[in-house]
Amino acid sequence: MNTKEIRRAARIILVGAPGVGKGTQAERLMKRYPQLSAISSGDLLRESVRKRTQLGLEVESTMKAGSLVPDDMILKLILGELQSKRWVSYQSSITGAFLAEPSKSPDASFILDGFPRTAIQATKLDSLIPINLVVSIITPVNIILSRIASRWVHAPSGRVYNTGFNAPKVEGKDDITGEPLTKRADDDEATWKQRLKKFDETSEPLLEHYERQGVLWTVQGNSSDEITPKLFQEFEARFT
Ligand code: AMP
Repeated sequence: MNTKEIRRAARIILVGAPGVGKGTQAERLMKRYPQLSAISSGDLLRESVRKRTQLGLEVESTMKAGSLVPDDMILKLILGELQSKRWVSYQSSITGAFLAEPSKSPDASFILDGFPRTAIQATKLDSLIPINLVVSIITPVNIILSRIASRWVHAPSGRVYNTGFNAPKVEGKDDITGEPLTKRADDDEATWKQRLKKFDETSEPLLEHYERQGVLWTVQGNSSDEITPKLFQEFEARFT
């Protein structure tokens, strides 16, 4: 795939029902636009659970039940990540308060996957770093449900496979490392329905928040392959 250069810092959020393919789109965007990187709140949390950190132990049961982790925990996690990548720094103002200063370099271009999930999280994020494109991905619920059953992940990297349309080169093995693929703990139908319910409750105010800011863009499709070209076209019009 040809790569393209970004000329204007892209600060993107992907919003969509669980299993809609946000991770897949994030991976494809990063391949085509190498200056982009991604932060996935779910991946960061799963890593904390795997490493049995204090946070991991606190959030494990919440995640397994398909509920949302408390805002203060998730905000701390994301802010730490934004700072460690130097995508945001802090300057003291005349009043002595600290103001967030997002980097303007096109290399400080990123995709947030899974965060913010609520309007409250979005309002907090606004004061740290302004988002300039929110992609709302829409796929019919029955299609997502049939895909969930065939989804496999490479847990250490977050790479996602689907035995139906995005199969690994070797069955059950990650393409890059050859390590075994696993099922996500929350990828069963009952948990997925619980997660969808949460998504339905929180996504409307979240999308309205960004609609008001004029940065919301919606894309529909039955598969990731249908959505990707539309997303690339929109991205290029805005950032390359
Ligand atoms: P995901 O991989 O984005 O589907 O996230 C998996 C799980 O991590 C969710 O079901 C939540 O329990 C938790 N989680 C991820 N991101 C957030 C967030 N922004 N706010 C609260 N909980 C989150």
